[in-house]
Amino acid sequence: MSNEADKLTGGAGASVRHSGGLPTLLPGSTIGILGGGQLGRMMANAGSAMGYRFVALDPTPDAPAGQVAEQIVAAYDNREAARELAERSDVITYEFENVDAGVAAMLMAESYVPQGSELLYTTQHRLREKQAIEAAGVRVAPYREIVSEDGLRAAVAEFGTPCVLKTATGGYDGKGQWVIRSEDEIGEAYETLSRAGVQLVLEQFIRFEKELSVIAARSPQGEIKTFPPAENIHVDNILHLSIVPARIGEDVQREAQKLAVRIAEGLGVVGLIAVELFYTADGELYVNELAPRPHNSGHYTMEACRTSQFEQHVRAICNLPLGDTVLMSPVVMVNVLGQHVGPLLERMAGRDEAAERLGAAPKVHLYGKKEAVVKRKMGHVNVLAPDTDAALRWIEETKIWKV
Ligand code: AMP
Repeated sequence: MSNEADKLTGGAGASVRHSGGLPTLLPGSTIGILGGGQLGRMMANAGSAMGYRFVALDPTPDAPAGQVAEQIVAAYDNREAARELAERSDVITYEFENVDAGVAAMLMAESYVPQGSELLYTTQHRLREKQAIEAAGVRVAPYREIVSEDGLRAAVAEFGTPCVLKTATGGYDGKGQWVIRSEDEIGEAYETLSRAGVQLVLEQFIRFEKELSVIAARSPQGEIKTFPPAENIHVDNILHLSIVPARIGEDVQREAQKLAVRIAEGLGVVGLIAVELFYTADGELYVNELAPRPHNSGHYTMEACRTSQFEQHVRAICNLPLGDTVLMSPVVMVNVLGQHVGPLLERMAGRDEAAERLGAAPKVHLYGKKEAVVKRKMGHVNVLAPDTDAALRWIEETKIWKV
């Protein structure tokens, strides 16, 4: 076999080809993932279908991704294990943004990390993230850096109540934040959040009409594609539903996608960037936060779009042309938390008359986590239907999600 043919068939060690200095990783290559949770699992499932191999680093034996890929069982900040991941992989990605800075630097030096460490550095910290979003010409909720209780008092006086105090790092699913509803709460809010020993930021409260998100992908060559915006509904600060198409005007949808493109370009993203937005009654869009990875609000793409967010991420980091993101069906994604697993499994065993009547096709995804703890994300269901009302009705009729 000629050398060229060997390359094109993905022969051992020949799956990396260089075009214009940018490596393109063809199927047959191994993708290393820092993190072995559900995002890694779904990435590995999508990439394996294309012929890629996967190895995930995660401290939990038999982690969600470890069940569908090879796994190195070690702590995320274990340098030796990260080195092993680098040795076994042709390209490295991550499924969470709180990657240890030392590990990120080491992987950059010893392996190929097309997403780089800059984007992680930016999105790990709310203040840096807001500054980068503003530098890209996109609006965020007005904010102030808070370094003292007096400073917080002054900022609350400026914004009025309610307003939201957040830790600059480490917060997720509403953790690390405090909605200050009256000036009496300032002392307690400051004391509680400053205990974490990290910087704080106060945000003006945005009276949003809807929460939206747009996922964009950018390849190393600068090709960008966005997925249709999702309308997101949270319960207890945890994502409950993503409704697509979002129930907003098409002009707003286009505008939200335009902002995501601006951010992907401005921040030099490679791979996916999830952009969470607030949409207000007077028609304004504000970015709330970013995630440089596949996102829960993009799970709907798995069956509803021509290309899923996971395939798109693999395509982007491997420098393949990006896939078409067209929506093929209205869809509502509903998260399956620990308390929903039992009733859902019971329902799956029988004939689903509601689905038949409504013309809905509920697609169940479970992540293989052992313990169904209340509020823990265990899976999701993508309910495809003739329209989003029918999908929402199916969710309601199952009575699994009593909120
Ligand atoms: P976050 O952790 O920043 O995504 O915030 C979690 C949730 O809190 C958001 O999805 C919103 O529902 C709410 N929230 C956060 N920041 C603000 C804000 N500045 N104004 C209004 N609601 C907010």
